[in-house]
Amino acid sequence: MPKCHWCKDIGEKERMHCDEKPTGKFNKNGSPKMFRKYFHSKCHELFLNDKEYKKIEATKLNDLYIYIRDLHGLISLDERMMEKIQDLRNGTIKIANKKVKKYKSGVPYELMLQTYRYNANTIDDVIRKMHFKEKWNEFSYIFGIVTKSVNDINTMNIQKEKTDTFKSKVSTESIEIDVKKKEVKRVDEMDISDIL
Ligand SMILES: [Zn+2]
Repeated sequence: MPKCHWCKDIGEKERMHCDEKPTGKFNKNGSPKMFRKYFHSKCHELFLNDKEYKKIEATKLNDLYIYIRDLHGLISLDERMMEKIQDLRNGTIKIANKKVKKYKSGVPYELMLQTYRYNANTIDDVIRKMHFKEKWNEFSYIFGIVTKSVNDINTMNIQKEKTDTFKSKVSTESIEIDVKKKEVKRVDEMDISDIL
């Protein structure tokens, strides 16, 4: 019985989903050798969702990466920089070289990017006026500004969401009122025609 690629439990082959890919090698009889992954059908769904999630995460990270790279005029971000970004994403932060879980859940990449953009003027000023020894110091300093500001931007987003929900609620209510008014009118018209 094959092992499920997702949950690692075994399952009945006939009832499992099978992803197969040619390995590029061939069996003795000339048929292509296949690489097969088995999944419980529920697990396959989870696997696909996870794949999609990772793809979206990768796109968001890429946007953030390009923004930071260009901001500091770098060719690429080094490992230390990526580690800082990942730690903020995962909610782990290094204090005295020990990883400590700081945030309940980490900071999404798009929120980091939004925070960079929101603080663009301050950041530009810092880069222009302060003279950092190395790009790493510049990156760290700016990343510190972003980390401090990220919660404020998050609160601002939540507040905006609330206002938007309120606005859409209000507009739905006013539509309902309009509809009611029309109904009332129709009754009025009917009344008139009844009299006539
Ligand atoms: Zn499974």
